[in-house]
Amino acid sequence: MNIETNVSLKQLNTFGIDAYAKQFAKFTNIDQLVELFELLKPQTSSLKPQTFILGGGSNILFTKNVDGTVLKNEISGIEKIDEDNDHVYIKAGAGENWHRFVLYCLENNYAGVENLALIPGSIGASPMQNIGAYGVEIKDVFHSLEAFHIDDKKTVQFNKADCAFGYRESVFKNKYKHQFIILSVIYKLAKKPVFNTSYGAIEAELEKMKVKELSIQSIAQAVINIRSSKLPDPKLIGNAGSFFKNPEIDYDHFEKLKNDFPAIVGYKLENGHVKLAAGWLIEQCGWKGYRKGDAGCHEKQALVLVNYGNASGSEIYNLSSAILDSVYDKFKVQLEREVNII
Ligand SMILES: Cc1cc2nc3c(=O)[nH]c(=O)nc-3n(C[C@H](O)[C@H](O)[C@H](O)COP(=O)(O)OP(=O)(O)OC[C@H]3O[C@@H](n4cnc5c(N)ncnc54)[C@H](O)[C@@H]3O)c2cc1C
Repeated sequence: MNIETNVSLKQLNTFGIDAYAKQFAKFTNIDQLVELFELLKPQTSSLKPQTFILGGGSNILFTKNVDGTVLKNEISGIEKIDEDNDHVYIKAGAGENWHRFVLYCLENNYAGVENLALIPGSIGASPMQNIGAYGVEIKDVFHSLEAFHIDDKKTVQFNKADCAFGYRESVFKNKYKHQFIILSVIYKLAKKPVFNTSYGAIEAELEKMKVKELSIQSIAQAVINIRSSKLPDPKLIGNAGSFFKNPEIDYDHFEKLKNDFPAIVGYKLENGHVKLAAGWLIEQCGWKGYRKGDAGCHEKQALVLVNYGNASGSEIYNLSSAILDSVYDKFKVQLEREVNII
């Protein structure tokens, strides 16, 4: 196994931050992973904050160099492993690209992930934060996963309940943080599609596309069109998608805000709370289009922080802190970062 030293991660994170890894290695299967841990043994005794698993680098912000080992997951393979009358079960290696998997499902008419087209990143990271878009989350099609326990050096199976999925949350971001490396995921996809076009933008785009007969392919295309028009392409401007989560507040707080800011939009949740659009709150604080040096808040999407070229991770992080503070000052709403800060 090849362990490189002092490796630039600039091309390996979509923010384009020029952080360095003290050590860096790739693995394509579990045997290589076990071998790597043998080689790295002296450094990897307890909880491993010094061992970082990298997928596509599209949900991280490096604020410093990694004083340890970055392990790049390149486990590949997408295969049908089972089916019944209504469903197919597809296993995908954690290093596979998420959108490639969506395209595979579209080609084979397996329904369930069409609304999640064009989300950057890897299969392995998809359960980490229960990726979601346009009314669908990974938990809706998740069956199980296999993960490697770093301390025990054993593989463990997780079913849906084990993963404790929430809004951009899972057990791997909380209780089991830094403890498991996801190796593969099994998704349960439908043979007969249930179309989800409840997000207004999808309906409007389908109309624009003059779609006569709804299909998972047309929905995916509508999603691709919308995403391409409104989200900055990381190849052109460094970013990690939504930097903050949409916050939840209690209903009384929402009523008060509605009184002071009649244009505020809130979605009532089943638990009685109200979900707010973080982008709107940030925009109201005047951040949209803000730029200091090469760190900025995107001119079309206030929720997306960007690196115009040579911003450091700390500059982006400091900007995010200033945004958090000003949103709190104005609305008494505490935003939370969605992006993993390293
Ligand atoms: C333009 C843009 C748009 C986006 N839109 C969306 C969106 O609509 N919805 C959404 O949910 N997200 C979105 N994201 C965020 C991102 O695409 C997802 O979070 C994605 O799942 C990250 O995958 P990754 O492989 O790049 O993860 P990375 O950034 O490499 O890693 C993210 C975290 O997961 C951990 N990790 C990665 N792989 C593994 C593994 N195999 N085992 C254990 N831990 C692992 C890492 O250690 C890190 O903590 C967007 C990002 C961008 C740049």
